[in-house]
Amino acid sequence: MAIFDSAEFDEHEQALFVNDRSVGLRAIIAIHNTNLGPALGGCRMWPYASEAEAIRDVLRLSRGMTYKAAMVNVELGGGKSVIIADAHKDKSPELLHAMGRWIDSLGGRYITGEDIGTNPFDMAEIKKETKCVSCLREEDGGYGDPAPMTALGVLQAISAGVEKAFDTTSLEGMRVAVQGAGNVGHRLCGLLTDAGAKVTVCDVFEENLERTVKAYGTDTVAPDDIFSVDADVFAPCAMGAVIDDQTIPQLKTKVVAGAANNQLAEDRHGQMLADRGIVYLPDYVANGGGLISCAAEWYRHDKAQVEANVRKIRETCVEILSYADQHGLPSHEASDRIAEQRFGA
Ligand code: NAD
Repeated sequence: MAIFDSAEFDEHEQALFVNDRSVGLRAIIAIHNTNLGPALGGCRMWPYASEAEAIRDVLRLSRGMTYKAAMVNVELGGGKSVIIADAHKDKSPELLHAMGRWIDSLGGRYITGEDIGTNPFDMAEIKKETKCVSCLREEDGGYGDPAPMTALGVLQAISAGVEKAFDTTSLEGMRVAVQGAGNVGHRLCGLLTDAGAKVTVCDVFEENLERTVKAYGTDTVAPDDIFSVDADVFAPCAMGAVIDDQTIPQLKTKVVAGAANNQLAEDRHGQMLADRGIVYLPDYVANGGGLISCAAEWYRHDKAQVEANVRKIRETCVEILSYADQHGLPSHEASDRIAEQRFGA
């Protein structure tokens, strides 16, 4: 299998393959770029069907972290780790401790955090073996759940998108369709309601939907109908790859901005949105508020400053949209170009 010359390997600096039989740990730690600082990215635990799938995932995700860190102005590079295991069956303190020791062996080049299949309690276990952990609970010395800051960042992206599409800085009276009322989506609905927007929300998990409706009096719609809501903004806050050939023709909104990672099923869908006059705020910028919080925790920057830095996501979005106009690019490509200039690709 070709690795160095594969598209996914891109310009990765380093990849560590861990095989620790004593605890049944098989993991990969990928470091894409450390020009701006140590590589920070979560630790995913997933029962990958094949090693190739795990390699592709970790490389793709660590590269994405470099771009995100560059765009939200934190002094960090991009990295990621995956543990090839089933979080429900295979997780043990011993396995997490072993992972911590391997992370520590990288001497501070990689900092981990929670991701799919891991949680803040797992991070506290890993921290017993290495200080290279962020996004911890306040009880464990961290700055707590990053979701509120992620939601605030998405609000900034929506605001920049609305200004571009409707020439107004106010969200008063705008209708926003929010897909997913989870950690981020629920909070986003609250922020939007406070800003005077009208919200239509959906979720496949009835309990989460009810919590949001009860808290903010939002309208609801069936999950399959969220794309065609007669709204001004669509905010994907559930899972990735929701912007595709089937969903784009259904969209009535002029703006797409949300928290979900990898919203475009394929890169060409960013161009499709642009061709339809839909303003798309790149996901990794819109959802960068959580990383700003984790970075502040890592550097022990003043927690009170985090919110002000998250609000700067709005300026960054304005810069991306203006660069896109100047260079005739779809916004996701404009964002990639700016990021590459910043981290010195
Ligand atoms: P979460 O798991 O708390 O919430 C996701 C919600 O989406 C859940 O309520 C789930 O039931 C719902 N959902 C799943 N499939 C759905 C569907 N088809 N239609 C409607 N609803 C559906 O996750 P979260 O922390 O709120 O994160 C949301 C997204 O943002 C994820 O893609 C995550 O990777 C991304 N993200 C989160 C953060 C953060 O700080 N939590 C940071 C960056 C990116």
